[in-house]
Amino acid sequence: MIMNKSLHKIPVGISACLLGHEVRYDGGHKSNDYIRKTLGEYFDFIPFCPEAESGMGVPRPSVQLRRTDKGVRCVGVKDHDIDVTEQLNDWSGQQAHRLHGLSGYILKKDSPSCGMERVRIYHNDRAERVGVGLFAHYLKDNFPLLPLEEEGRLGDPRLRENFIQRVYVLQRWQRLMGDTLTPSRLTQFHSRHKLILMSRDQNQARELGRLAASADKATMIPVTERYGLALMQTLKKIATRGNHVNVLQHIQGYLKKNLDADDKAELTETLERYRLGLIPLIVPITLLKHHFRKQPDPFIEQSFYLSPYPEELTVLNEI
Ligand code: SF4
Repeated sequence: MIMNKSLHKIPVGISACLLGHEVRYDGGHKSNDYIRKTLGEYFDFIPFCPEAESGMGVPRPSVQLRRTDKGVRCVGVKDHDIDVTEQLNDWSGQQAHRLHGLSGYILKKDSPSCGMERVRIYHNDRAERVGVGLFAHYLKDNFPLLPLEEEGRLGDPRLRENFIQRVYVLQRWQRLMGDTLTPSRLTQFHSRHKLILMSRDQNQARELGRLAASADKATMIPVTERYGLALMQTLKKIATRGNHVNVLQHIQGYLKKNLDADDKAELTETLERYRLGLIPLIVPITLLKHHFRKQPDPFIEQSFYLSPYPEELTVLNEI
């Protein structure tokens, strides 16, 4: 059966210039092929350009973050009297309806509006890379669950994997929130994500398990809110090779009785080769999936760890 991908695409916000929209101060764009062509197969990109859409127009005077007597302001590069801070902040505050329901956001680095981190803040003739773009700031403050990433950082396989993983988990979380909430649905969600969480932080995975199990009818809403926040915070951590090895060994434990000596030796050697950085994560994962196809286990089958997102994204081949 041919699956219609567009029906299943995940809504993700993006700085419009990264999609090739000609909205930069000089009328240009910063189109990114990996984002448009590869991620675009799975993500339904919703473009935003804070500067053009807030009325600054295209083309427009370029702006920068600058430390002033009134705090950090977004002002003209050539004419510091042009101050668009309120204009950008007001526009940001009017975007909530477009942002609700997004499962991620890709930001243009270095921009005084969109940059997620290390944006230059100028003071006199010097600049420090310690700023956050005004719209990115608004996103961080008002959408704490939303996975944010910059296009430049997506070039790093481990950061790319982390972002894609967070987008897919948040989408499943949002679906859960759209359903009738019950304690058993929350514990089931946790059970399906437990191994992914363990690959980020074993202690936090245990804490989240305890939190999910503590929910009852009376505490369902506050527990769910705390769980959602802690879930997305934990997933921000980058999974190390050592953590993945621990999870893979944990999964191997579900097979022990069903493996002959040769299979066991092959699996152990594969995990060791992965631990040493000689092969990517997809290799032990493929081998484990092969064994579980022959000897299914209900816990492993329902877990998202071995199949977190479409294989065609090839992210597990690179970490
Ligand atoms: S970085 Fe942000 S504000 Fe600047 S052109 Fe791109 S989308 Fe617009």
